[in-house]
Amino acid sequence: QAKKVGKANWCMFTQELDDRARARLQVESDLHHAVNENEFKVYFQPQVNAHTHEIVGCETLVRWQHPTRGLVYPGEFIEHAEDNGLITRIGDWVLRAAMSEARKLPEHIRVSVNISPVQIHSANLIPTIVHAIAANNIDPTRLELEITENVLMSDTEFTLQRLHQLKDLGIRIALDDFGTGYSSLSYLRRFPFDRIKIDKSFVRDIETRSDSRSIAVATLSLAKSLGMRCTAEGVETRYQADFLRDCGCDELQGFFISRAQPLEKLQHMIELKKVKEKVTLIQDQRDF
Ligand code: C2E
Ligand code: MG
Ligand code: MG
Ligand code: MG
Repeated sequence: QAKKVGKANWCMFTQELDDRARARLQVESDLHHAVNENEFKVYFQPQVNAHTHEIVGCETLVRWQHPTRGLVYPGEFIEHAEDNGLITRIGDWVLRAAMSEARKLPEHIRVSVNISPVQIHSANLIPTIVHAIAANNIDPTRLELEITENVLMSDTEFTLQRLHQLKDLGIRIALDDFGTGYSSLSYLRRFPFDRIKIDKSFVRDIETRSDSRSIAVATLSLAKSLGMRCTAEGVETRYQADFLRDCGCDELQGFFISRAQPLEKLQHMIELKKVKEKVTLIQDQRDF
């Protein structure tokens, strides 16, 4: 009897593995197709001054316009692309797309781009960036690269050297998803970050949990004392926005301000602000 049950479980287990392997293979083959057919799009999520809610920058977020599945979010494909190496091609494309769109935005608007750890190690990274900013006549100080703590855990000497090369070009570096990785705080002294982004998991519970408030406040104080700017991501409510502003957060990003949008919508939001004196908060909507 026990043997039977064991066998049944084992069958279910392998069936599940099988399904997962199949789904994974499907995504990987679709991704190859997507890279060759250029099925990606860049969306932009505004980042605003915490006091005035004026748009000061935007984060580039990639989406995959899948022929049958519709709009696919990065959570469903970035990891696969990192595993099979396609991330360098996708990432290069995102950088070029972000810079050619940045050209259509006012010059005071900063544009940030997420960089995967795999890209940091790619020999393409610096040439792609140099070419993309030169081809579009972009001031390098307008470009900010967002990297996560994970990138700092291995091959730190190489990463450090890479980040300094980028800094020497005038490019800014932001530490994304702060507090969610496994590295130690000592890297904050070693690596040349211009900005820390408070992860949305801490922002989400600001109203209900005092430990989340403590982490947000401590991060802001750490950033300040180390001479870095701070952006909070995942800001969804006025309470969170006001709390973070009152605690000294420089910039806010989240659905409370706006979701990620195609460039035209972002341009429109920036235009509106020029015409109207008052801050206009765009209503929540799913990505268009
Ligand atoms: P991230 O860099 O931390 O980006 C912020 C994510 O939070 C975005 O999800 C954004 O849409 C979402 N978000 C923004 N405001 C709110 C909010 O108020 N509430 C909630 N619940 N979520 C909010 P998205 O676009 O699905 O991207 C997920 C992750 O995928 C990004 O996290 C980033 O790590 C990665 N990613 C996106 N684009 C790229 C890319 O071009 N290259 C690489 N390597 N990674 C990318
Ligand atoms: Mg990011
Ligand atoms: Mg983040
Ligand atoms: Mg993230």
